[in-house]
Parts: sequence; structure tokens; C-alpha cells
Amino acid sequence: DSAAAASDMPSFPSSGASPQKQQHNARRRQLIRQQRKSLPIASVEKRLIEEVRKNDTLIVVGETGSGKTTQLPQFLYDAGFCQDGKVIGITQPRRVAAVTVAKRVAEECNDQLGKKVGYSIRFDDSTSNATRIKYMTDGLLLREALLDPLLSKYSVIVVDEAHERTVHTDVLLGLLKKVQHSRSIYANKNGKILPDIQDQSQYFTLKACQGTKIDPLKLIIMSASLDAKCFSDYFGSAKAVHIQGRQYPVDILYTYQPESDYLDATLVTIFQIHLEEGPGDILAFLTGQEEIESLDRLIQERARQLPPQRSKIWTTPIYSSLPSEQQMNAFKPAPAGTRKVVLATNIAETSVTIPGIKYVIDPGMVKARAYNPVTGMESLIIIPVSKAQALQRSGRAGREGPGKCYRLFQETLGIDDIIGFDFMEKPSRTAILKSLEQLILLGALTDDYKLSDPVGRQMARLPLDPMYSKALIVASEFKCLEEMLIVVSMLSVESIFFSPREKLEEARAARKSFESSEGDHITLVNVYRAAKECLEKSKNANAKEKTMEKALNRWCRENFINYRSLRHACDVHSQIQGHVQQMGLNVSSCGDDMVLFRRCLTAAFFLNAAMRQPDGSYRALATSQSVQIHPSSVLFQKKPDCAIFNELVRTSQNYVKDLTRIDPVWLAELAPQYYATED
Ligand code: ADP
Ligand code: MG
Repeated sequence: DSAAAASDMPSFPSSGASPQKQQHNARRRQLIRQQRKSLPIASVEKRLIEEVRKNDTLIVVGETGSGKTTQLPQFLYDAGFCQDGKVIGITQPRRVAAVTVAKRVAEECNDQLGKKVGYSIRFDDSTSNATRIKYMTDGLLLREALLDPLLSKYSVIVVDEAHERTVHTDVLLGLLKKVQHSRSIYANKNGKILPDIQDQSQYFTLKACQGTKIDPLKLIIMSASLDAKCFSDYFGSAKAVHIQGRQYPVDILYTYQPESDYLDATLVTIFQIHLEEGPGDILAFLTGQEEIESLDRLIQERARQLPPQRSKIWTTPIYSSLPSEQQMNAFKPAPAGTRKVVLATNIAETSVTIPGIKYVIDPGMVKARAYNPVTGMESLIIIPVSKAQALQRSGRAGREGPGKCYRLFQETLGIDDIIGFDFMEKPSRTAILKSLEQLILLGALTDDYKLSDPVGRQMARLPLDPMYSKALIVASEFKCLEEMLIVVSMLSVESIFFSPREKLEEARAARKSFESSEGDHITLVNVYRAAKECLEKSKNANAKEKTMEKALNRWCRENFINYRSLRHACDVHSQIQGHVQQMGLNVSSCGDDMVLFRRCLTAAFFLNAAMRQPDGSYRALATSQSVQIHPSSVLFQKKPDCAIFNELVRTSQNYVKDLTRIDPVWLAELAPQYYATED
């Protein structure tokens, strides 16, 4: 049995330890070995490894506590996936989980943290050259991918807790799909890269790695509860396996009437359990640090009034921003004569499993991100948990034996499905506030609402939507201001393309000659340049202005271009060109380097990024809104994995218009202030 064999490896320094200590260590190792063997995942180790070998992408679904996060990476290691010094990377949406799990797994391996097993989160890296099993946050892997676009040191990447679906998970899944593709191309060509790869940026990436041996990348998507089919479709009908969980019965108790103060109700319930129920630890779910801290204080106060002969209460908080040393307390057994009360955020729902829990208190609330499309602001609001969440929470009570869950709400509460649940729009705030917030995000205003220097001052001089002003400034840095001027002018006017209903096919055919497979922005640049060429031609023929306009008008009709809109765009163009020249910005062209231009569009319009979802729909990353590509876009037919857009149109559906295909990793690279944060 390889699970046991792994733990039988020589123990790390025990020389110098007292005989008692050595005996204690031996007992603990024995206990861990037994625990590992009894996990549901232990009985399917062989099959899992077989599936990983057979499939480049595998989806693993299993009940929380079945051993996915701690065991699977060890199985992979034992099966030889770290030969040639390759690393198994496991991403977690939360820092806490990365740290606690790495510590646990290091102990299971009977090794010091930072050797074979380590974690890496922002500002805290425990790994060394010897590390083969590396737990990290989604955000960190994204950043690594910027430096090594093939993620060449990894043999396997495990995306854990995929059901959590943060912005990072979305970006990461899109990215990994791409990395996997590049690596398989690379492996198939034996390290020889021919420039027949569609995406230019990919070609250069691959070329840079020429000569090093790179195997295909194995991807494992893991989750406690997810629609396996939807992820499977996203990865080209990837294989999905389920791990049967083990669950003891949990008694569920509801309150008779709604609790007006759930914090107080939680307090009362904790003491009720403590005084009336048998041994076993308590886990209470709260919405955030403040609540946890104030409840902790209330518990301490009331605990002082307990009669001295009663057992004591020992509270341990656990939430994301708590220092990791303190987080680890939650995993320690309660001191003799005390009952442990863990005060946790929804981090303890699926991310971490705390041993010893017999009683769960669920006030039924959770803090969630909500986006207000009217104000453009994201805020944290407290909302009722979903039914799936309530189920997960109660399940925590039945891990080691029969348990009890106290739901501090009535039986009917709970939103049916939190995944894909669209938050309702909150009442709209004023338009002024909206624009102020956008200006701060764009770097035009400082936090105290003053114009920033130079960006804000420059933007203020441009008679444009702030997002377009910002785009011009960014473009001058990227040295593609000529192209951006065209884009901004063309986007500032009514529809450029003219598609009369009775000549739809002809109009479509005419547009084809301008179309860029990279998207609508470059297509607009092509139209503008073609129009300019037409004007130049008649100018060279010494035509009078009137004749030139006539020629342009005819050209527009032939090409199904809206003449008035195009004229308007030319006017806007010469106006803002004047402005940017006065501002001293450098109007240069990127020539044919459309990767550069697309990167520039990404840097400018990062607030409007959309990712393709496993089910084929799109999600606007900043708003979490579900959107579709508008049929007028050139990307409507060839759907990109990730794109930026300029306009959101709302009809019966949310549509995005004016799109350009981008690489999801550019978001983290070019707008780190927005995309490369953790937690
Ligand atoms: P899953 O990822 O399937 O939810 P895990 O691999 O996280 O499961 O946990 C498997 C088991 O390992 C848990 O049920 C628990 O008994 C044990 N475990 C995990 N982390 C710790 C820890 N930090 N301390 C003690 N036991 C732990
Ligand atoms: Mg897990």
C-alpha cells in the first residue's frame, strides 16, 4: 500500500530528542498513517493514477474531507510525476488553505515544511529547490505564468476548489488551457517549432524555449461540488471521476422564528451546546473578521460567569487575513478540560477541514461580492447562504461521527444555487459617484478626489470619455497612438458599418475584406486606413475637394460603410489628434505588430474584460455579469477564450460589442492593480 509506504520514509532529525519525545513522534506518525489509510480517497489511489496517466485533463469531484487536497498530490509524487525534478503545483483560491494544507502534508510526509512540500503565497514563500509538491494561490500561479509562459517546471497542475470561481480561477483556467495546448504542440514537435502557429505571441513564447525538453502538462480540476459536465465541456469533454465520500448522520435543527440578531443567537447556541451536550468541538460560521472578533469577546465575557467546575471554552478564530500562525491554532486539539469553539468564515466550508468538529452552528449568512453595474462599484454585502452552502456547512458536523447542525434560520431560507447566481442590482447611486470611481480606477484621481499628475491632468484636457482618454495616454507609452487615435475616433461615432436588411449578404461580404480575426478594433483600423487610401488616391489625381468627397462617398456605398459616420470619425480624429499633439504625446505607429496593439488595448480597457465560461457563455470579469458576444462582432463566429470589449448593450440579454481577442495572462501583467491581487 503506497500510502503507508510514503509515510514509512526515514523520519527527519529526531536525534537529540528525548526518548519520550521520540515515542510521542512515533505515536503521532502511526496515527497519521491510520488517518490517511481511512480516507475515502485512499481506496481509489491506483485508479486515480491510471486516469491521470490516460487523460491530460481530469476532473475530480469528491465530498469535502475525502482527501483530495492532501492526498492526491502525494499519490502523484509516489507515482513518479516528479521525476526529472518536475513539480506538482496545487492552486487554492485562498492563502490560508495553501498554508495549512502544505503544513499538514509536510507532516504527513514526515518532512520539514519547505523541503519536499512547501507553499508559496504573495509575500510568503516557503519553497526551496527541493520542493516537489507546491501549494499556492491562484494569483501566484498567474504571476509565475508571466515569467514562464509554458509553466515548464510543472508536470501537473491541480486547480483545487474550482467551484469557488473567483476572477482568478476564471483567468487561470483560460490560461492553463492555453499552456496545455502550447506544451502539447511543443512536445509533438520534439522541441522544433515551426511558425505555423496561429497566435504570434505563442510562437515567440515557444521559440524562446526551443531546445529544452518539455512534456505535455497534466491538468487536474478538483472540487467538492461542481457541475462536472460544464467543466468537462470546457476542456473538450475531459474525463470526470467521483470519489465517494463518507458521511455520518447529522441532525439538523432549525429555529422556530427568524432570528433578528444572528450574532446573539450564535452566542446563545454556543453556550447551550456547551452546557447541555456531550463532548465534541463546535464550529460556528460567521461572515467576517469583525463579527468573529466581537463574538469572541462576547464569549470570553460570558465564559467568565461559568461555574468553576464546568469545563472551559477555548475559542480559535480562522479567517483569511489572520496571520497563518494563529490560523493553525484551529487545527490543534483543545487543551485538556476545554471545549474548542472554532469561529470561522466560509473558509471552513470546503477549503479546510478542521478535525474534531461535532457541532456546527450556521447563522445562514455569508459575505459576498456584489457588483453594482450602475455605479461600477464592487462591494461586500451580507446575504443568505445558498442551499448548497448550508448543506456543505452541516456536513462539517458529520466527518468523524454523528453530529448536529444548528441552523439559526427557518427551514425555507436559502437561495437555490449560488453558482451563476446573479446579484440583483442595488438601488442606483448618482452618476457623479460612478464617474468618480471610474476615474480613481483609471488612475486619473487620487484617493482624495484630486486630479493625479500627470495622468489625471492629461485626461482632463481631452474632450473624451475618461476610458478613451486613458487609452490614448496608454497608447503613447505603447508607441501605437496612431492606431489608438483611429480606434477612439471610430468608436466615438454611430455605427460605421451599414447593413441594410435587404442586402445583408452583400454587406457581410463587403465587411470580410476589412475583417481581422483578432477582433473589431483592428477591423475598424483597417476600414479607416482603406478610406484614407481612397482619399489619397483622388488627391494624387489632383481632384478638387468636392470630387474627393464624391469618390469617398462612392467608396463607402460600395463597401457598405456609413459615409456620415465615417466623416464624423475623421473630424473627431483630427480634433483629438490636435489635442494629443499639444499635450506633447508621441503619435507613432506600431506597424504590423498587432500583438503589441492588442496588449495596449488590454492595458487601456482592462475594466472591460470578459472570459469564456466552461458552459460557453461569457462573464464580464469586473462585474461578474453574464454576457454574450453581440452578433455584429467579428468575433461572434470565432469565439475567443478571453476578450476586452468597449460596450455593453442590454436588451433581453447582456451583449458586449467592439471586442478584441486577448491573452488572459495579459490582464494580470498589464493591470496588476486590478487583477493580480490575492484573496
Ligand atoms: P478534501 O480536499 O477532499 O476536502 P483534505 O485532503 O483537505 O480533503 O482533508 C482530508 C482529511 O485530512 C481531513 O478530513 C482531515 O481529517 C485531515 N486533515 C486535513 N488537514 C488537516 C490539518 N491541518 N490537521 C489535521 N488534519 C487534517
Ligand atoms: Mg480540499
